Amino acid sequence: MGLHATYKLTRIINARGPYTPLGVSRSGEGVATAVAAALSEFFVMEELQDAADRALARFTGAEAGTAVHCTASAITLTVAATMTGESPERIAALPDTTGMPRAVVLPAGHAVDYGHPIEQAVRLAGAVPVAVGTEAGYTLEDLETGLSRPDVACLLLVSSRLVRGAGTELSEAVAVAHRRGVPVVIDGAAQDFRIDELLRTGADLVTVSGQKYLGSPTAGLVVGRVDLVAAVRAQERGIGRAMKASKEAVIGVLAAIEARQELDMTAWRRQQADKVADFVVRAGALRGVAATSVPDPTGLPFERARLDVDPAVAGMDAAALVTALRVGAPSIWVMPGRPDAEELFLELVALEPAEIDAVLVRLSELLPG
Ligand SMILES: *Cc1c(COP(=O)(O)O)cnc(C)c1O
Repeated sequence: MGLHATYKLTRIINARGPYTPLGVSRSGEGVATAVAAALSEFFVMEELQDAADRALARFTGAEAGTAVHCTASAITLTVAATMTGESPERIAALPDTTGMPRAVVLPAGHAVDYGHPIEQAVRLAGAVPVAVGTEAGYTLEDLETGLSRPDVACLLLVSSRLVRGAGTELSEAVAVAHRRGVPVVIDGAAQDFRIDELLRTGADLVTVSGQKYLGSPTAGLVVGRVDLVAAVRAQERGIGRAMKASKEAVIGVLAAIEARQELDMTAWRRQQADKVADFVVRAGALRGVAATSVPDPTGLPFERARLDVDPAVAGMDAAALVTALRVGAPSIWVMPGRPDAEELFLELVALEPAEIDAVLVRLSELLPG
């Protein structure tokens, strides 16, 4: 019997992307096998982290890397690293930041909420978030003003679709901070496909999720400057104790990196494009919706399917269709569109062909014949 039947759990078709409340992603065979093997073994955790360090450096071209519990903890621990360095006294003192640089400057539009506000991940380290600019955007002058305080620990930038407003290029923001000797952390979250691009901005540390597109168990990956990665690892004797990566997570990260390195990206991209194109043709034959494929808004290497709902024909608006898909069995989760637009999106990356068929069948049942 499967896990869903054993524990009486809702069956899900996840066309919403790597979404934390749905268990994020599917790990491949190689990751599952490695994780299962890790569970019954002992390891010197320091050696495991050294192996992760080497693998992450090879994978990303960064000087160094480490795995922590998740990306949210990676934000807290990278901020902590910029406040404490490797000082044992400072690490032991956190979240008491007396005598340390503690201001974390971030553009107001980058104050994202990925399930909790990113400012809380900053405050967990004892730091004080200082927003610059407005929701509508920020300028280099806004950054200069924020960074001119005497107690700045780092500049925090976010490179995801959650970011609001227009801003300067990330690399220009990094350069402004560096002219003042301030280190820069970029929260790259789901953007493991773009990690080299994020490192090329000059950022001192970049965090990405292990469990989103990379498909490891839950893990936050931190890559960048060797001294700052060492300072992140050193937090394990401080606040990082509550945010450590498990042995199975680190082994899973190693297996996931190997799988990514073996992946034929050209073939993978073609496969994703074909999947979306086929879905769009089939969904386009339904009444009440128009189907198109649209690029990922943050430059990830695949498209999503967009359905524009005509409520007069469909008999319901886009929000009602999203709900109707969700309340059926299996429960189908899609991405809601903008509140003022009759649209919804489907990300098909994680879906099996049979699941795509099931989505189309459900749509045909919900829409007029
Ligand atoms: C998902 C996400 C996080 C948090 O990652 P978790 O590993 O789920 O805790 C942080 N920042 C952004 C922008 C995200 O999308």
